[in-house]
Amino acid sequence: MEHDQNNFSPINGGQNTSGGQNPSQTDDDANTCVVCMDNPINTVFLPCRHSKCCRECASSLQLCPLCRARINETMDIFR
Ligand SMILES: [Zn+2]
Ligand SMILES: [Zn+2]
Repeated sequence: MEHDQNNFSPINGGQNTSGGQNPSQTDDDANTCVVCMDNPINTVFLPCRHSKCCRECASSLQLCPLCRARINETMDIFR
């Protein structure tokens, strides 16, 4: 008699800890502001939704450094 169940536990509150969304983030600079190259990225531009800047730099920018769309609004990112 072989029980070929692989670790099936009856007590398993619907936890889904396998973080689904993880795009290839291997770049070290992926979380560094592209303007000052110093602060971590913590702001997203609206409406283009690019997030490549820290809040300090974003507050002085008028155009998105990526797509050069006009920045109407900035929104803080909380990680
Ligand atoms: Zn910056
Ligand atoms: Zn943009």
